[in-house]
Amino acid sequence: MFKKIGLTVILLIIALFTIITWTFASPLQEAVVTNTDVASENSQAPKNIILFIGDGMSPSLMTPYRHYSDDTATAELEQTAFDPHLVGQQMTHSADTKETITDSAAAATALATGEKTYHSAVGVDGNGEQLHNVIEAAKTIDMSTGLVVTSEVIHATPANFFTHVRDRDRHSEIADASVDDIIKNELKVDVLLGGGLKHFNRSDRNLVSELQERGYTYVSSKQELLDSDSDLLLGLFAEEGLPMFLDRDEDIPSLKDMTKAAISRLSKDEDGFFLMVEGSQIDWGGHSNDISSMMSEMTDFEQAFEAALDFAEADGDTLVLVTADHGTGGFSMGVDGENHWNPEPIRQMKRTPQFLAQKIVNEGTVVDLLEEYVEWDFEVEEISAIQTALSNENPSSSIRAILSKAVDKRSYTGWTTDGHTGEDVNVYAFGPKSELWHGLSDNTSVAKNIFEVLEEKE
Ligand SMILES: [Zn+2]
Repeated sequence: MFKKIGLTVILLIIALFTIITWTFASPLQEAVVTNTDVASENSQAPKNIILFIGDGMSPSLMTPYRHYSDDTATAELEQTAFDPHLVGQQMTHSADTKETITDSAAAATALATGEKTYHSAVGVDGNGEQLHNVIEAAKTIDMSTGLVVTSEVIHATPANFFTHVRDRDRHSEIADASVDDIIKNELKVDVLLGGGLKHFNRSDRNLVSELQERGYTYVSSKQELLDSDSDLLLGLFAEEGLPMFLDRDEDIPSLKDMTKAAISRLSKDEDGFFLMVEGSQIDWGGHSNDISSMMSEMTDFEQAFEAALDFAEADGDTLVLVTADHGTGGFSMGVDGENHWNPEPIRQMKRTPQFLAQKIVNEGTVVDLLEEYVEWDFEVEEISAIQTALSNENPSSSIRAILSKAVDKRSYTGWTTDGHTGEDVNVYAFGPKSELWHGLSDNTSVAKNIFEVLEEKE
């Protein structure tokens, strides 16, 4: 009897709760739906598009980066510049879905052309057929174009935006395309900034002077970049990749310097511009399981993104996208379930382990050098391991690994691989049409949606 009454009361309460929830929740739900509708109705195709690609910048890095870049003078944890603009995630697998982990070339083909392909492919499908990319589409409608990277400009990611090659390692062929591939009497890329001079200044061909003959200004230092006012610009600031963010001297521009230089030129075009900016070396830090390089390379990337955001906010007609091509390293924020991950020892590295290892090898000193560049103390065993490694076959890489592990030990950083990882990556978007990337999408949607936006612009 009492059980029956009890059950009835419970059922009545549930019914009442459901009615109340419906009554009060409906206007809220409608309001949310209406807002989304208004956003898509109001969103006209933007004049300009800036695409940021963090190579190897998996979601697992965004939380530690928030702690690493936190203003420790305040009690709260500040957001990163990316955080407010998170809109979704995208899948990164290759054309063959059994290839759950992509390489940079296949991922960049998806991002630049909207088509999945095989590993090492640059802008071609499984049959070697050329795939139309977003820079070619932008050039066709008279927009200006730019590529800004910290790797060599012929590296897999940027190469996908201006050429088509069966193998990412055909470096000379990729470099040649920057001069030989023509659309509507113009070269595909108006502003090309990064590293890789050795692929342009070769014994068989000098692409630097060929580009100069075509009206490009060539710059090779930060000052030359700042002083130049040419709209057609080739900037190569190192023979190979640029030095990492922590290791650069004042001759080398930051990713932010290069991004601002590109925007200031490209934005003169009344037809608008497309610019791709890559934080190329976040991935390189991941391959070496080197968290101090990954975090500081993300600072370089974030500062460039902030500069683009400043432009887009003032301009009001620019879409800014940020995503990654894949994860690298399988970073883990914590290792033992007891100790909290700690960014402080990472912040206290004044140079990267790679830089320090090379300097130790060159100068043969260990203790003094580490005291100068690292704010915490090394253990006696770590110092003697470094001294022993000095007589190894490849001392620099052994010492780099010892230094990286010393940082891991103090920060409680874990890793699962020295290769890529296959998780979905974050998408951040700001400006007109950013709603196109809401929710879970595929990495091909970057190019597919950009093609759609460019068509609407025509
Ligand atoms: Zn990559």
